[in-house]
Amino acid sequence: MRRLHIALVAHDAKKPELADWVAEHEAFLSRHTLVATGTTGRTLMERVPALAIERLKSGPLGGDQQIGARIVEGTLDLLVFFWDPLTAQPHEPDVRALLRIAQVYDIPVACSRATATLIVRGLSGVP
Ligand code: PGA
Repeated sequence: MRRLHIALVAHDAKKPELADWVAEHEAFLSRHTLVATGTTGRTLMERVPALAIERLKSGPLGGDQQIGARIVEGTLDLLVFFWDPLTAQPHEPDVRALLRIAQVYDIPVACSRATATLIVRGLSGVP
């Protein structure tokens, strides 16, 4: 499989869940190029220090938009975005814009652990 560019983003309440998922799929993720919004990236690097993750700005400070720009530029293959359905986000317009632009460019988006796992299994040829 070619090396994919994968973005990892989680809202605060979802960061532990994403960190668990990333730890669980470390072997798969280590074969790809990873990018994350600022605080998500720091959380993941603390949890799984061996993984190389490029850190962008924090989501509310433009990190979501940086990931959106990569989608527009054609340099992102998969977005794993554990957004929080139970908490209002001050940067809601950015969140919507990111999900919207991923849809516009038909980029696979995993918003939950179940979907992210299905995608990894599919890419790994595991039923
Ligand atoms: P963060 O941003 O990783 O900097 O917390 C994520 C987001 O809220 O979009």
